[in-house]
Amino acid sequence: MTVLTDRATDPAVLSDLRDVRLGQAYFSRKLNELRNAELLEPSGLEGWSRAHVIAHVGYNARGLNRLVDWAETGVVTPMYSSPDVRATEISFGATLAPRALRHLSDHAAVALDVSWRDLPVERWSFVVRTAQGREVPVAETVWMRSREVWLHAIDLGNGGRFEDVPAPVARRLLGDVLATWAVRDSLAFVLEDTETGQEFAATVLSAAPTERIRGPLPRLLAWATGRSSAGITTAAGAPAPPAPRWL
Ligand code: ZN
Repeated sequence: MTVLTDRATDPAVLSDLRDVRLGQAYFSRKLNELRNAELLEPSGLEGWSRAHVIAHVGYNARGLNRLVDWAETGVVTPMYSSPDVRATEISFGATLAPRALRHLSDHAAVALDVSWRDLPVERWSFVVRTAQGREVPVAETVWMRSREVWLHAIDLGNGGRFEDVPAPVARRLLGDVLATWAVRDSLAFVLEDTETGQEFAATVLSAAPTERIRGPLPRLLAWATGRSSAGITTAAGAPAPPAPRWL
């Protein structure tokens, strides 16, 4: 990736930029390890081939790039013009020839990185609206992209592992999932990392019973994001039930 010098100066933003570049490199490496014929095979996501995942990740970079453009110019530029357009784009992208699909993935990722690199320091707090309608400072796009590249590299299903996700990224992602369950579904969970003893929980404004789930951090993340229940137990040591839906 052609990183020269970031114009951002906020240490939190710079740290997020490091994580997302690691994640992008990880995703690109897993993609490069796949032969063309393997792109049409199923991914780890139900109903999606690897080509769907790759197209989605490529178009996600373009969508996030539109938000960075918005922050830079002040001209409202939504991530996608509608949910339908987003879905159609992914179905179309999945039919692209392997070379075109790989090009989309690489080119969109580099373009997004260049936009971040060149975004003037005073524009990073500019508020944009995500595809889900959330209003966030554009700096949040870096974390949004991190989530995508780390998780979908694993979804490619050719050896990507939750164990490879940096612990700070894994912990923050767990926090996101728990917050979604708490706010949207009033579900209370305490997730316990059995290697460090660290606990993760989100505040739930109801008397919902709290369920305790235990396992090593990478396994907790695999479970919470709906990918796998391997290595996860309840407080009583029973196999954990499937996690509630996240996204
Ligand atoms: Zn995604």
